[in-house]
Amino acid sequence: MSGTSTFSEFRSVPLDPRTDYYGLFTGVDGEDLTWWKTAREFCDYARPGINEAWEAAEYDVAAIEEAARRGLVRDGISIEGLPEVSLRARRLIGFEFARCDASLSTALGVQAGLAMRSIAELGSPEQREKYLVPMSRMEIRGAFALTEPDHGSDSVGLETTATRDGDEWVINGEKMWIGHGSVGHIAIVFARMDNGKVGGFIVDQDSPGYEAETITGKAALRGIPQARIWLHDVRVPDSRRLPGCASFRDTAKVLMGSRIGVAWSAFGLAVDCYEKALAYASERVQFGRPLIKNQIIQQRLADMLADVTTMGLYCTRLLKMEEAGTVTEQQASLAKVTNTRAARRVAANARDMFGGVGILLENDVIRHMTDAETLHTYEGTDTMQSLIVGKSITGTSAFTS
Ligand SMILES: Cc1cc2nc3c(=O)[nH]c(=O)nc-3n(C[C@H](O)[C@H](O)[C@H](O)COP(=O)(O)OP(=O)(O)OC[C@H]3O[C@@H](n4cnc5c(N)ncnc54)[C@H](O)[C@@H]3O)c2cc1C
Repeated sequence: MSGTSTFSEFRSVPLDPRTDYYGLFTGVDGEDLTWWKTAREFCDYARPGINEAWEAAEYDVAAIEEAARRGLVRDGISIEGLPEVSLRARRLIGFEFARCDASLSTALGVQAGLAMRSIAELGSPEQREKYLVPMSRMEIRGAFALTEPDHGSDSVGLETTATRDGDEWVINGEKMWIGHGSVGHIAIVFARMDNGKVGGFIVDQDSPGYEAETITGKAALRGIPQARIWLHDVRVPDSRRLPGCASFRDTAKVLMGSRIGVAWSAFGLAVDCYEKALAYASERVQFGRPLIKNQIIQQRLADMLADVTTMGLYCTRLLKMEEAGTVTEQQASLAKVTNTRAARRVAANARDMFGGVGILLENDVIRHMTDAETLHTYEGTDTMQSLIVGKSITGTSAFTS
């Protein structure tokens, strides 16, 4: 441990031993290590523009297109003709993107983890063939439109309707908070069908009746826009209905994977905060000595490391369970709530340790700190994840009557 760490010292792959204290990632090798390095190199390429885009609330489409050129926009989905991406590599790519910027990891999550995965898991062979390759290249940008203004945590109660009319469906309703909803090409819209069940539909964003407005005034995730969407008699051919989505339950196939992805993103974001705080505290001199010479600073760094280690343990254990195909929704929820809570703590601690310059975007930690707020809420809020776990251990639901 040197008293003069600089942040660049932490930029090795896999991870610095001061971060990966229990060696959770020392065994990453082969193709997985190559994917991890590719993600790291992409982030190094994207990093210089990130704070500027965040401040200007601009979506850097060119950056995510570059990620696609490097083969990173896949979420591990098997696509004929493209190299396989293992579960481990899929999760490490998400981790690395969030370590750099949660807007980037959210763009990846929306495009690959939600929109592409909906088509991969719930779509027909023809739909998979038509969309997955161009989406992996970012030639088609996709949105996942589940949440509504009046149905967030209880999206199961969604009110958007899809009414059958011959070979077409007519969709009416409103959606809220939809990533890529105003800057994409298609949206996977979830709507209640004539039989009362929820179906999924691939809707072109330039369809007559599709209206979207980017949500402004956000103090977090400013590098990726979300939209409010109005659907007025939007007509979609039956061939664009996802045949694998016959009820709301089917969305869980997609959401569990993306919820685990948020646990990894929270881990990535926290690692960057912890490493930057350690480097800064090593360099910053007050009262004639570096901050790290103070017991309380060391204790706080140890606390941050404890959080980061817990998050890494959750992620690596979840990965094992994902690989074995045994992970449950409740286990994904517990990891999501634990890691997003820990990310908020680590980010706030890091922000404070930087003193005044901690609020400057150039030091990244204030961006991470506000972005952590959205990880805490999207893909199911902190409270809802806890209530899902609570239901599983008590046998009684506290959120439905
Ligand atoms: C930046 C961002 C990006 C997003 N991207 C997408 C996207 O791409 N696609 C998409 O479909 N959605 C997206 N969302 C929506 C997100 O999933 C919802 O915001 C989230 O599910 C919470 O819904 P809500 O905001 O309506 O909050 P609400 O459900 O209104 O919750 C408000 C508060 O009440 C609590 N609460 C709710 N019900 C209960 C209960 N029964 N008991 C106790 N407490 C309760 C919640 O935990 C929360 O604290 C995004 C949201 C954000 C902020």
